[in-house]
Parts: sequence; C-alpha cells; structure tokens
Amino acid sequence: MRIVVIGAGIIGSSVAYETAKAGAKVTVLDAGKIAGGASAASFAWTNATGKRPQSYFALNVAGMRAHLDLSREFGNAPWYNQTGSLEWYSKEADWAAQEENADQMRDWGYGVEWISKDRLAELEPEIDLSAIGKSPIVYYPEEGWVHPVLYSASLLRAAKERWNASIHAFAPVEAIDLSAETKTVRTVSGDVYEADVVINCTGSWADRKLEGVPSIPMASTVGVLGFTLPVASTLQRQFHMDDLDVRPDGAGRLMIHKISVDDVVPELGDLDPKGREAGLLIDAVRRVLPAVQPDDLESIRTTMRPIPSDRLTCSGWVPGVEGYYAAVTHSGVTIAPYLGKVIADEVVRGRVHESLADFRPDRFIAAKNGMGQRS
Ligand SMILES: Cc1cc2nc3c(=O)[nH]c(=O)nc-3n(C[C@H](O)[C@H](O)[C@H](O)COP(=O)(O)OP(=O)(O)OC[C@H]3O[C@@H](n4cnc5c(N)ncnc54)[C@H](O)[C@@H]3O)c2cc1C
Repeated sequence: MRIVVIGAGIIGSSVAYETAKAGAKVTVLDAGKIAGGASAASFAWTNATGKRPQSYFALNVAGMRAHLDLSREFGNAPWYNQTGSLEWYSKEADWAAQEENADQMRDWGYGVEWISKDRLAELEPEIDLSAIGKSPIVYYPEEGWVHPVLYSASLLRAAKERWNASIHAFAPVEAIDLSAETKTVRTVSGDVYEADVVINCTGSWADRKLEGVPSIPMASTVGVLGFTLPVASTLQRQFHMDDLDVRPDGAGRLMIHKISVDDVVPELGDLDPKGREAGLLIDAVRRVLPAVQPDDLESIRTTMRPIPSDRLTCSGWVPGVEGYYAAVTHSGVTIAPYLGKVIADEVVRGRVHESLADFRPDRFIAAKNGMGQRS
C-alpha cells in the first residue's frame, strides 16, 4: 500500500512511523520545515486532566501510555520526560472546581495526589511558597512533557532508515486526485506522487482548500509561548498556577504559557521579547520563581493551535472521497503516538478502533464548507 502523509508535525510523523512499520510504502510531504508548525511551539504537556467527554479523556490517557511504550521502543527516548506536574489555584473561589476535577480524574483511574506545602518544597525548593498561600496543591505523577521537534525528527529518521519512507520538506501540496485510476498528490512545484491512501495531517491548515478534497472546519486560536535564557534553576516539574503554565525546556531554559496573554494576541506575528506580552509572562513567573530576573525572556513565539471546530479530535476516513483519511487534533502532543498506532491499524491493517468512534470526520458532514462532498 502506498501512503502519502501530508504534514510532518508530531501527528504526521507518528502516522508515517507507524504506517511504515506496518508495511506501507510511505511518502511524507511538508510545506515547510519538519515539525515547523504548531509542533515547533507547543507547551507539549502530556496530560488528560480536565478533558471531557470521557471518550476524549480516554484518548488522551491512551496517548500518555503510548508515549511510555514508544519511549521504550527507542530505548529511553531523549524527547520524553515523565516528571509529573503540580497544580494550584491562588483564588479560593477556584478550589471547589479543582477538587471536583481531581475527584473525577481519580474516579476515571487517573493518578492524583494531594500534597502539602512541605512536600512541594522538597520536590521543587525554588518555588516561593508565599505564592501558594493556603492553596491546595495537586500532583499528577503520570503527566510530563515532550520535545516535539526531536520526537518528529527521530520518528521520521527511523521510518526512513528502517522502512524506506521518503521524507520531503518544503513540498507544499496543492491538489489530490483520488478518483482517477492512478491516484495522485501534486505539490505546488508540480511534483506528482502516486498513492493508494492520502492522510491529511496538516493541523491548523486543515481548513485550507486542497484541490480535489473537502476541508475540515477548524476553530484554531493563537498560542503564545515565552522562552527564558538559561536560568540557574533546578526546576524539574512543570507547574500550573491559575492560567499560568511553566516548565523546564532543557539547558536551564524555562517555557512559559499564560492563557490571558494568548487572549491579547489576536493574530500570528513577531513579538518583542522585551515587549508588553513578554512582560506579562515574565512577571507572572517571577511571582513563583524569584530566581528568574526581569530581563530573562530570550524569545517569544506565536503559533496556531489546531482545533477542529467542535474542539474534539478529528480522525477517520473522510466521507465522499475514497482513500482519504484525516488526522487533526488539539492536544496533539499528548495523543500523537496513540493516534499513529490506531491509524496504522485502520489504514494498513483494515481494523476499526472503537476508541475513535466519537471523533470521526463524518460528524462535520452537514457543515457548510462542503465536508463529505466532492469538491
Ligand atoms: C501554544 C500551544 C500550546 C500547546 N500546548 C499543548 C500541550 O500542552 N499539550 C498538548 O498535547 N498539545 C498542546 N498543543 C497542541 C499541539 O501542539 C498540537 O495539537 C500538535 O502540535 C499538532 O500537531 P500536528 O502535527 O497536527 O500539526 P503541526 O505541527 O502544525 O503540523 C502540521 C504540518 O502540516 C504542514 N502543512 C500544512 N499544509 C500543508 C500542505 N498543503 N502541504 C504540505 N504540508 C502542509 C505544515 O507545514 C506543518 O508542518 C499546544 C499548541 C500550542 C500552539
């Protein structure tokens, strides 16, 4: 079976790796750099906390477990860190919701530990306990984070070296013809690739028109990430305080995300690491980690979060175009290794996965953009 995977982010790389491993002849085409889209600037927290409905929670948990398996498959993969994560809310008004969520997670089999401030001080001595006050603290030991670019590069290299996959960066696809006897994918530069199956892994670009196939309705939003200079900090675990997320990003750098900063940046663009948004990020971190200095922000990046229009994963055969499969999701860093495996099962081995039953593209059939109809 000849498969063309469009998009080489963390989803496309996972799909390419698993389908090649399952025996397919795989070609990967990306419009730009390998993992240069959302996967290049993702907080990349592997988690399922707060994710609903339960089928979506289960998909994320399956992703977390698949990360462990894949990491072993590569022998302690350098991209994966399961250090757990810490969560607290500064306002008492949020404590009941935090407890309700933790109870629900525990009931669904997720690892949840309530820890004391003393225990937190043992785990992360550089966190200023005065920033916590009387807030209850939850520790989620199964959570972690991933370096998505390293992940994608490693999986694509393995797909190429072990199973002869062919990888092409800077090869934007503009047309797909799955109706002709010879099914083809054509790039903007005119190169043509034959395929039995085409898998769309274009993330937030999935709502852009590709000639010959319907697009997927998306409600993608801008995400903003700050990266510090190397800081003399031994922080090992990510922490989540109110809408602030902070984690180590290697070599002493910290990665910072704050939802309220996303909200003040309406579109993609270059942001100044000394500008207003950077100030909001660095001030928020300094309230928790005093070791961080006011001018420690080295860079600030914006990316689109790929979010299908109903916010849930979209994975399955696209109705109306035989041989066309879509794999687009938010929380893609968490879900990717599982999605790669189940897509290889569905596409190459002809099995159907119940775990994807709630996430099929045919739920968008009635959407006005023509989903499910031939264009
Ligand atoms: C700020 C931020 C924080 C996030 N935090 C988390 C988190 O904590 N945990 C989590 O699990 N997820 C998180 N996410 C979401 C996660 O990063 C994404 O779901 C995931 O990276 C999507 O991967 P992808 O491969 O689908 O998309 P991408 O990485 O965007 O890859 C899509 C690729 O398709 C290519 N492409 C597009 N059009 C074409 C074309 N016509 N031809 C060829 N190639 C094409 C692009 O060049 C791109 O490389 C976050 C995202 C953002 C932006």
